[in-house]
Amino acid sequence: MSHKVEILSVGTELLLGSIANTDAQMLSRGLSELGLNVYWHTVVGDNPGRAKQAVELARSRADVIITTGGLGPTCDDLTKNVLAEAFGKKLVFHEPSAERIRAYFARTGRQMPESNLQQAMLPQGCVVLENDWGTAPGCAFEVDGVHVIMLPGPPSECTPMFRYRAVPYLQSLSEGVIASHTLKLFGIGESAMEAVLREQMNTMTNPTLAPYAKEGECELRVTAKADTDAQAQALLLPVVEQIKGLFGSMVYGVDVASLEQVVQSLLEEKHLTIGTAESITGGLMAKRLTDLPGVSRVFRGGVVSYTNEVKHEVLGVGQELLDRYGAVSAPVAEAMAQGVRRLLGCDVALASTGVAGPDRDDRGNEVGTAFVAIATPEGSYVRPLQLGNRPMRERLRTQTAHHAFDLARRYLSGLPYEN
Ligand code: ATP
Ligand code: MG
Repeated sequence: MSHKVEILSVGTELLLGSIANTDAQMLSRGLSELGLNVYWHTVVGDNPGRAKQAVELARSRADVIITTGGLGPTCDDLTKNVLAEAFGKKLVFHEPSAERIRAYFARTGRQMPESNLQQAMLPQGCVVLENDWGTAPGCAFEVDGVHVIMLPGPPSECTPMFRYRAVPYLQSLSEGVIASHTLKLFGIGESAMEAVLREQMNTMTNPTLAPYAKEGECELRVTAKADTDAQAQALLLPVVEQIKGLFGSMVYGVDVASLEQVVQSLLEEKHLTIGTAESITGGLMAKRLTDLPGVSRVFRGGVVSYTNEVKHEVLGVGQELLDRYGAVSAPVAEAMAQGVRRLLGCDVALASTGVAGPDRDDRGNEVGTAFVAIATPEGSYVRPLQLGNRPMRERLRTQTAHHAFDLARRYLSGLPYEN
């Protein structure tokens, strides 16, 4: 499909900066996965005149317009009126939608204000996109080759409405199927990744390659279009293999959610357990592990050992190591991992220590200096990190945890700790 898509977000609160346009981001990402070209993001306030102008501009250049917001029952919710008028459609009462809205209120035990029935007024002849996550139905129609899809604003509705209602509609516009795989990479920056792939990305049309950078990780999405899923997969798999070959052990998974999820499945597979000793990450590793359903089978526990006393008294890190090298050092990181492995009786132990800032530590270590360590039945290993000295504690913690999980997945996959 070579459709040109414009996302038109309606809402004064977006223009005022009260909220970020996360709907547009979510839609853009989903649409590019479908192989659709999003060429424009437009935001317009709850003003009929300017909204109409925005719609006219959008229809002059795009052939798919997706609107978000303004489908609610209040008077500032004008999206349907403006779009229907611009495309010469009447709004008509849609009884099944009214019934769903009444049922929604009954189910949530609330009195329905009459104004809510306005949400059942829909452009004549449209495809109604039923809203199972809120009250306002969405809708889709086509006029003179331009497709319009309207989705509600609240992200908790917009996201599932896109996925379960708009995507099937969009897929029905094109013949064939669109399939994709996502490769996850750790240990390479987005620009380095793009440099390796640039020529290829520019010449590829089916499949296409789309890179994303995310919190210190990179993703590469490969998307193919074909008549059947089997044909799409046949186009995708050689490219997936080729990319794996190019990036080697930096590719930590295909269609997986996160490094920690890969670690979890490897531990399950090998019937091994893990534990954590955390200083700079302050419990983030344990948090990320315990976000995973079923992780109790492999995660024994963790210690947040923030002070030297706790490192020494609980984890058994030697006082002489702490005195001689300081808490932010390779020997202490290693001793923390070994200590927690003993303490918790786990097979694999991870540890983190570092300077989160905003200031250097008392030994003069720069912000962003960190060490992650792993202790295993075969021995231990420390990776020193320099994560940059911009004082962003959250980012440093996230990155440090990534590196610790990377050590674990490399150990569990039998890969060298470094590339
Ligand atoms: P409602 O039925 O709740 O009125 P609606 O479809 O009319 O929904 P809006 O009134 O435009 O949507 O927005 C409702 C709320 O949804 C906003 O206050 C905001 O919190 C959120 N929202 C709206 N648009 C966006 C957007 N583009 N990105 C993220 N959040 C949004
Ligand atoms: Mg509203």
